[in-house]
Amino acid sequence: MTQPRTYRAVGLTLRKSPAGEADLIASLYSREHGKLDVLARGARRLTSKLMGHFEPLTLVRLSIARGRTLDIVAEAEVVNAFPDVKADYASVARGLHVAELIDGFSASSASNPQVLDLALQTLDAIGKQSPAATDDHSPDLPLRYFDLQLLQLSGFLPELYQCVECGDGLEPERHRFAAGAGGALCADCITPPEIVVRPLSLPALKVLRLLHRTESVDRLPQLNMPATVQREVHGILSETLQYWLDRQLRAQSFLDAAKLA
Ligand SMILES: [Zn+2]
Repeated sequence: MTQPRTYRAVGLTLRKSPAGEADLIASLYSREHGKLDVLARGARRLTSKLMGHFEPLTLVRLSIARGRTLDIVAEAEVVNAFPDVKADYASVARGLHVAELIDGFSASSASNPQVLDLALQTLDAIGKQSPAATDDHSPDLPLRYFDLQLLQLSGFLPELYQCVECGDGLEPERHRFAAGAGGALCADCITPPEIVVRPLSLPALKVLRLLHRTESVDRLPQLNMPATVQREVHGILSETLQYWLDRQLRAQSFLDAAKLA
């Protein structure tokens, strides 16, 4: 059976790179086909009707022609450019954190529409945050929700309810965390020396469990989290993501730079 010569996809652009004189290669996460690399011919020309369609964090509807090496964009239409996310540097950095993790955790052509939905809902939540609101609640809570839920959808959810070594339920204030062991540990279990074990406070454990059981990002409560707990939750999730990605999160350092600026 021959494959049809063109196909359709709706996808979020994760990154783009220049190719040839005026072309670009866009990497997207699509609802229909998972991760896709497509060639957009002439898209870097100012006069191109594809100009701006493949900026990272843009949702596009595409018609794609099969090519010998790379598939080629035949038609493209912007569905959502997330202008609110692109309105300030910190929001862009948060958005790029989403794009980078989707990129890192999605194997080519394995499609999971829930991953795309999670990304789109997180971008909506990032866009709705007013910069003035950052003093009285936790502006990165939607991102931490995204981190935990992406780990879950990818099959890497850390254990949060019982000790990964002995299986006993966790007692308040007698718990630790080890990304390399798969999650929370009781105070008594001994792990191999190569496993990095860190303290895990009760407030941070409660926030992680809340992120786990909240149904969607727009149902997250407004939490007045002390900065120490925010840092701890961030640290635990970053460590877990990096353990599984085994590489530095460039978007994260970008975000950290944005916060220092
Ligand atoms: Zn144990």
